Formats: sequence, C-alpha cells, structure tokens
Amino acid sequence: MALFLCVAVVALLALAYTAAPGWLWTIFGAMLLAEFTRASGFHAAMLAVDALFVLVAIVLLAPPLRRVLITRHALAWYRRILPPMSQTEREAIDAGTVWWDGDLFTGKPDWKKLLASPAPRLTPEEQSFLDNEAEELCAMTSEWESTQIHQDISPQAWQFIKDNGFLGMIIPREYGGRGFSAYMHSQVIQKLSTRASALAVSVMVPNSLGPAELLLNYGTDAQKNHYLPRLAKGLEIPCFGLTNPHAGSDAAAIPDHGIVCRGMWEGREVLGMRVTWEKRYITLGPVATLLGLAFRLYDPDHLLSGVYENAHGGREDIGITCALVPTHTPGVNIGRRHFPLNAVFQNGPNWGKDVFMPLDWIIGGPHMAGQGWRMLMECLAAGRSISLPSSSTGVTKLAARATGAYARVRNQFKTPIGKFEGIEEPLARIGGHLYMMDAARRTTAAAVDMGEKPSVLSAIVKYHLTERGRSTVNDAMDILGGKGICLGPNNFMGRAYQQIPIAITVEGANILTRSLIIFGQGAIRCHPWVLREMAAVREADPVRAEVLFDAALFGHIRFSLSMVARAFVLGVFNGNFLPSPVGGPVKRHYQHLTRLSTDFAMLADFCMLFMGGDLKRREKMSARLGDILSLLYLCSCALKRWHDDGSPEEDRPLLDWSIRSALFDARRAIDGLLANFPSPFVAWLLWNLVYPFGRPFHHPSDDLGHRVARLLLEPSATRDRLTEGMYLPKSAEEPIAVLEAALTAAIQTEAIERKIRAAHKAGTLKAGAEIGHDAGAEAEAAVATGVISAAEAGALARFAQLRDEVIRVDHFPPDFGLSESLQADPKRAAA
Ligand SMILES: Cc1cc2nc3c(=O)[nH]c(=O)nc-3n(C[C@H](O)[C@H](O)[C@H](O)COP(=O)(O)OP(=O)(O)OC[C@H]3O[C@@H](n4cnc5c(N)ncnc54)[C@H](O)[C@@H]3O)c2cc1C
Repeated sequence: MALFLCVAVVALLALAYTAAPGWLWTIFGAMLLAEFTRASGFHAAMLAVDALFVLVAIVLLAPPLRRVLITRHALAWYRRILPPMSQTEREAIDAGTVWWDGDLFTGKPDWKKLLASPAPRLTPEEQSFLDNEAEELCAMTSEWESTQIHQDISPQAWQFIKDNGFLGMIIPREYGGRGFSAYMHSQVIQKLSTRASALAVSVMVPNSLGPAELLLNYGTDAQKNHYLPRLAKGLEIPCFGLTNPHAGSDAAAIPDHGIVCRGMWEGREVLGMRVTWEKRYITLGPVATLLGLAFRLYDPDHLLSGVYENAHGGREDIGITCALVPTHTPGVNIGRRHFPLNAVFQNGPNWGKDVFMPLDWIIGGPHMAGQGWRMLMECLAAGRSISLPSSSTGVTKLAARATGAYARVRNQFKTPIGKFEGIEEPLARIGGHLYMMDAARRTTAAAVDMGEKPSVLSAIVKYHLTERGRSTVNDAMDILGGKGICLGPNNFMGRAYQQIPIAITVEGANILTRSLIIFGQGAIRCHPWVLREMAAVREADPVRAEVLFDAALFGHIRFSLSMVARAFVLGVFNGNFLPSPVGGPVKRHYQHLTRLSTDFAMLADFCMLFMGGDLKRREKMSARLGDILSLLYLCSCALKRWHDDGSPEEDRPLLDWSIRSALFDARRAIDGLLANFPSPFVAWLLWNLVYPFGRPFHHPSDDLGHRVARLLLEPSATRDRLTEGMYLPKSAEEPIAVLEAALTAAIQTEAIERKIRAAHKAGTLKAGAEIGHDAGAEAEAAVATGVISAAEAGALARFAQLRDEVIRVDHFPPDFGLSESLQADPKRAAA
C-alpha cells in the first residue's frame, strides 16, 4: 500500500505539474478510487465516495452542466471581488503590448525565444551620427559650463542641436527627421547624459512622449505635414503640458478644461473650444513654440452632436483631450523658470484662461476629442522605455569609469583606495548594477524596435534603472570623498548627485510606479488567464460571458495547480534538472530564474486569490510582487546581453554578481510577502512549497565582489564594454581624460614602485625618502643607487603630476565669482 501511495503522489504531482486535461485527472481519480475501494473490501462509505466522484466528474466533464452549476456562481463571485475600474484605469491597462513579461508570468519562460530575439544594432549611418554629430555636441558642452555659466546649454549648442536634427530623431525621414531606431535614440541620450544632464534632457524631451510622438501616431495628415518637418528641423521647440498643481501622479484628475463653443477665428465664426489651464514643471516650457496641452473637454450645449461623424454620443464630458497650441496664441502665458535641482534645463509653468482655439488643434482632429488619455497611455511605453533608462545608464557609466579610475589613482595608507575591501563593496555594486542596467536598456530598446509597446516593461526599466542610477551615484560619491563634494569643473559627479531625484520623480514617480503600476498592470496584462477572465466579466451577453469565463476559469485552475506542483518539485531539486539553452556555469542562472518564475507565478495567484481587489490598496504587497517580476526581467536581460556579447568569459564576474544580487533581492521580496500574507496558515504552506529545504539564493560572495571591483580598477576590454557609448573627451586637459591617463600611468608605474619598496626593505635605499613622502627625492635616490632607471623615474614623475591633477579640487573667490561675472555682464550688475 505504501508503494501504491508513493506512486499515487508522484502521479498526482506529474498531472498537476504538466497541467493535464480534466479527462486525464478523471481517469487517474477513478483508478485511485478503484484501488482504495478494493482495499477497503467494498466498504459502504467507500462506495458512497465513489458515487460522489462519479457525480463530480460528470459535472466537470460536461461543459453545459459545469457552466450552470459552477461557472455561473464563480462568475458572480468574481464580479463582486473585482475592484471597480475607471475608464482611465481601463485605458491605462489596455495600452501597450506584452512581450517577455508574459513569459515570466507563465512560470516557464521560453529562453530560446528570448535569445533568438534580435540583438540591438546600429546602422552605419546611425553609428556615424554617434561618432560625429553627437561627439561634436558633447565636445562643445560641459556640465559645469551649462549649470554655472549659461544656466542652460549654450546658445551654440542649442543651434547645433536644431541644425543637426537632434530634435527629430524619432521623426521619419519622409518628414525631414532622422528616422532613428529606438536603440539609436537610446545610444544618443546615453552619450549626452555622460556629458551634461541639460543636454540629454533638452534632446530627450522632444523625442519622448510629446507633440512629435502623438502626431506620428494620431495626427491628421495636415497636422503631420505642417508640424513634423518644422519639429524635425528645430523650427518649432515642443513641450507637453499634463501636470497641474492639483494633479501630479493622479494626472487623469486634471482640472484643466475646455468648453466646446462657437467663436471668431481668423475673421469667421467657427466651432472651437475655450480652454483654461494651469500647468507646472513643464520641460522646455519656457522656450517652447508649440505647447502640447492635455485638458478635459466638455460639450454642455451638445454642439458636437450632429456636426461631426463621431458625435461622442451627445456626452457633456467628452474626456481628456490633447491639442497642439502655438505658444504665441493670444492668452497663452508662458511663465518664468523653475529651478530643478541645478539641472538647468528649461522648465517652467504655463497657463491660460478661456483661450479660444479651433477644434482642428485637437491632435488627430475633432473626432479624437476625448481620446487623449488613451493616446498618452499608448505612447508612454516607447518614451518611458528609452529616456530615463538611457540617461540613468549613461550617468552610471560615467560613475563606473571615472570612479573606478579615481579609486586606483587615489592613494591612502600607501594603497590605492580601490584595493580596500570597504571600497570594493560599492565598486562591485557599481559594476554589477551597471552591467544589468545596460542589458535592460539595450533589450528594452530592441523590443521597441521589434514593434513592441512594452507598457509593463517600460515601467520596470523606468523604476529600476533610475533607482540603480541613484544607488550608483551615491556609491560613487562615497568613494570620491571630498573630491565629489567640492563643486567645480573638476568635479564629475557632484551635479549628477544633485540632479538624480529628478529622474526618480518624472514619468511616473518611482514610489507610485513600484507600488501601483508594475504588478498592478502586470498582473492583468501579462497573466495568462486574468485578462481573459476580466474580458468575460465585461461581456454583455450573459451566455457568452459564461462560456468565456468557463474556459478562462478552468484554464486558470489548471495553471495554478501546475505552478503549485512545479514550485514544490523545483524547490526539492533546486531546479537542477530544468532545461537551459546553454551549458556551462551560466546554465545554473537559467535554472534558478525558471524556478523563480514558477514561484512568482504561484505567489501572484495566491495573492490575487486571497487579497483580490484589496491588493490595489495593499501597495506594499503589490510592490514586492512587482519587485520579483522586475528582477526576473532584469536578470533575463543580463543573460540576453551575455549571449549577444558572445559570452565573454572575462565579463562573467559582472554577470554572476548582477544575477546573484538580484536573486537575493527577489528572495527578500518573497520573505516579505510571506511574512505579511493575510493567512498565516497559507503563508506557512507557501513557505514550504517555495523553500522545501531552506532559502535559496545568497548575496554575492566577497570574492565575487572583489573580482567585479578589480574590473573597474584597470583598463580592459571588459571595462570598455561596460562603459561602451559614453563620451570620452579627446582634449587632454578634460578631467575625464586626465583620469584615464592617470589610471594608465598608475598601472605602468606599479612595478617601479614595487622595486623601490623592495629596495627600502632590503636597506638599499636610505630611510626617509619614502613613496608619498618626497617622491621626487626618493626617485632620484633610487636612480642614483641603480634601483630604477632614469626612464622609470620619469614615468614616476609623470604619474605624480597626473595624480596631483586628479586629486585637485576647484576653489573660488569668497563670493564664488559673483563680482567677476557681474563685471563681465554690466547689464546684470546695473539690475
Ligand atoms: C523636473 C521636472 C520635469 C517635469 N517635466 C514635465 C513635463 O514636461 N510635462 C508634464 O506634464 N509634467 C512634467 N513633470 C511633472 C511630473 O510628471 C510630476 O512631478 C510627477 O507626475 C509627480 O507629480 P508630483 O510632483 O505632483 O508629485 P505627487 O503626485 O504629489 O506625488 C508625491 C509622492 O507621492 C507618491 N504617490 C502618489 N500617489 C501614490 C500612490 N497611489 N501610491 C503610492 N505613492 C503615491 C509619488 O510616488 C511621490 O513619491 C515634471 C516634473 C519635474 C520635477
């Protein structure tokens, strides 16, 4: 009997694991019961159980009966627990596409599909633009000059941007734009952000969600033909105004409004709208010539009814509407400037009261009135996938390259600080995070180029890349010490440190994105069954609703059972038998991630089952589930990058560190989820399913961290790959160029310094002339005693000079040069 029970349990697990169809379960159940009935000697109680089984089997296997007896009631219950959804929430959920995020929700991602997706590539023309125009633009700008002298990018840089099509990178060539790929767009933003944030932002905004993107997707031919060539050439500077003082994160609640009315326009009476708005924080607003404006349109007199084909059903509240408003329109007020954390890109408020404008100004024409929110949500994915992920990765590349070099050049306690274990820790974080960030940036841009509008993935990269950017800049500041704190042209990190909260706040503030968006939207869009269940609930025809819901419900049940069985089996075997698209040591990463994906799918289902609509309010739980989904995505990107790069063994410490660290974070998210699960008993059950033999996934070891840190401390192909695409100034006087030279010199002179130290130890060199004490005298003494050659002494002197330059910080007159700048600008002095 024991053997029979064991076989039965294994068979049960196998049926669940493989999501077997109902009839197979029935056959198995019948065999099981037959054996129990025989063993019981055909006991009456057992025969009653058999009869019950037959009844249940008939109900389950006969769809019409099943629908009446089970599905109908389940549907009513589902309708009750489903949280109410506003039109704007529905439009946000419906927007965009599902790609690899869908695979991660299945619990068994198809790795071969991911690896087979095209690696991002630039065309020769794009590469040339990056190597020439983008390079030249970087060379004519600097962070210090823009933040301290121009309070903007310089007029020459602005002109160069307009003349060279930087503002029209996403506009197709037929309209005079550059027609670049999403990946190229990302490469440009990344490069500019390694030079000056105002440069990156000023180029990023017109190429992100705003007039050009909206026109391309929804504009009428007349609007496209008029505006796109002008935007491409920089004849129009666009901005987009959504945020109102009373509606920031809850942007759909903007009180800005337009009333449909008749009015005079260019000498004749036309149907138009009187728009009142107050916008703030609008990037490029103070210099914009074309204002994209979002407001809620009302038609109280039903003037649109009968006039246009789609008369909006005679509704008074037409909905959020987007229009293009030339800023010279009478009544448009462009305010002064906000001062966003020393980032100095143009940003400010604008407003208008009862400004009359024709209906033709609505993007897409009058029949697109009320479609604004859908338009914004649909277009958000592309811009959010590119802008901030690229600029955050750029800043992290700068931090990795420059801080790594600094840590090698800067000595304390007669040792390069980068060799202290304490400094290795932040260096390892910088290197590991950067590897994964760049992987996610590249993979997501490539997905956009494949035609995806990845709404959930774009939220993931927006949140996680800006957060990792913030952590990296903090780490870099700690490593740099006072050098990072004293601002000036020689400080390559201080401004980035000041500016980093901007990336956290814009395009969906990070706390909101993590707590509400990533899992909230992911669970509905990416889950294999939830969207189908919701579609069934929305179905008006009750019979069809039952049929649809029946298929979705039983598919969902089979899926959930499969995830439970898989989580347990994969936990017992630690995923060891799982297939992997590659062999060797990297295989374990694939196996761990498949296991985590299964655990995630199971936990997500249990959370939805036990918390239902309440999950929307339980943001901490939703955030943890979002973290697991996000970390699965980031790890997938790291593996894809490793594959696309040709699996270079030298880069493996970066891959290993980034994946182990992410798996460890995912485990902590699971711990938090289970510790706060509403039912302690179910939490205990889940714990034992996920961790049958204790918790897996540990923090990267010290040794691995050491190997990652070392990669930042010396020039190598790996370091170049890690910081690929950043701007490396050609002029030898530039702080980054000096750092690069000093790093090379530090490595070249290490052997010479070792000779001198050995001579000291051996007593060949006189005491008192120690390295760092009086290096010049010591080198002379070393040459005189034949310890080193004159050429080697020259190399030491050159390194000493470079190191002095590297550690130098800027200083200013007592008034920080204000009087000097007033003298140079008499108009300002007079004011
Ligand atoms: C420099 C800069 C440039 C900008 N550029 C533009 C632009 O060009 N066009 C434009 O229209 N707007 C722009 N914005 C506005 C930007 O999109 C908003 O700042 C952003 O939406 C956040 O709104 P808020 O600042 O009013 O913060 P609030 O909405 O007041 O949020 C404050 C905090 O509460 C959190 N929060 C809010 N709701 C929730 C929730 N449900 N759950 C958990 N946490 C929540 C947020 O995450 C945030 O941490 C810009 C802002 C800045 C600072």
